[in-house]
Amino acid sequence: MTRVFNFSAGPAALPESVLRQAADEMLDWHGSGMSVMEMSHRGKEFIAIHAEAEALLRELLAVPANYRVLFMQGGAIGENAIVPMNMLRGHAGADYVNTGEWSKKSIKEAAKYAKINVVASSEATQFDRIPKRETWQLDPNAAYVHICANETIGGVEYHFVPDVGDVPLIADVSSNILSRPMDVARFGLIYGGAQKNIGPAGLTIVVVRDDLLGGALPITPSAFNYTEQAASDSMLNTPPTYAIYIAGLVFHWIKARGGLAAMEAHNRAKAALLYDYLNATGFYRSPIVREDRSLMNVPFKLKDEALDAAFLKGAEARGMVQLKGHRSVGGMRASIYNAMPVEGVKALVAYMKEFEASHG
Ligand SMILES: *Cc1c(COP(=O)(O)O)cnc(C)c1O
Repeated sequence: MTRVFNFSAGPAALPESVLRQAADEMLDWHGSGMSVMEMSHRGKEFIAIHAEAEALLRELLAVPANYRVLFMQGGAIGENAIVPMNMLRGHAGADYVNTGEWSKKSIKEAAKYAKINVVASSEATQFDRIPKRETWQLDPNAAYVHICANETIGGVEYHFVPDVGDVPLIADVSSNILSRPMDVARFGLIYGGAQKNIGPAGLTIVVVRDDLLGGALPITPSAFNYTEQAASDSMLNTPPTYAIYIAGLVFHWIKARGGLAAMEAHNRAKAALLYDYLNATGFYRSPIVREDRSLMNVPFKLKDEALDAAFLKGAEARGMVQLKGHRSVGGMRASIYNAMPVEGVKALVAYMKEFEASHG
């Protein structure tokens, strides 16, 4: 068996030890005589798996007691609609910051339900930065302010929590949740799909302050109504049971490695290896301003894009896959989530240097 270094943006690499444990437990989970996939979601075995996953997530993120953790489905794109349906709470509109492809999708979807006010945008500079907070034109009557905490395609990340006063701040954290500690109390709600930094696709995580519940639009489907899901412990319908189980194993893995502070050190060290090299060479470049560069998704361009195909082919031959940038931006992108070992990034930088030496 050979495992590659998988730089996919999502679904993305998982810790090998988690996959091994899942394999060991595949046919018989803890003497139950069943796979987790075969269990009733209301049986005592799965209830325990579910409760433990939630408890570990709360512990890792230090979620305050007045927040509900929901395990839902529909992905972050589903949440782009589910958030306004639940969070307008009688307000006419909401404020959105546009920092790239994922922000644009959120804005487009939310506009079906509410008057959306784009309060700041970095589109004029090809989404190479986070617009400075001082430039945002916030509406004090907005239902909430929405940001994308990490633009997975563009590679820009908030390295600060914007102060938006008393209006609840909502963040799409799909691609940087659990990559470092975050102060959940600064947000009204955070949401994200699991398949970047947590586990298999199919599970969507929502953490919401409980005083914001109860105001969903009447058209909101029950399965997507936060209040109803909170009241039934995310079991209003059958939850994505296997994905929740794997997420729980990943939470254990993070805890065993020292929690989110240790994850941050690990992720900063990996990102520094790549960005230090990108800063030093003229052969490759990062399109993002230094202070807003993502620790999770590192897009870069070759000086001569005619070499892109040869670069990717050589990487694949060395066991490094999924480095092609998103079709909307081109170039390369290395996604280096929690599960990417430092050895993978070292191998990538060594290959980039070798490729520069032979083509530069
Ligand atoms: C991947 C991603 C999404 C889309 O998630 P789906 O699970 O495909 O709905 C949305 N936002 C961000 C920031 C992402 O990285």
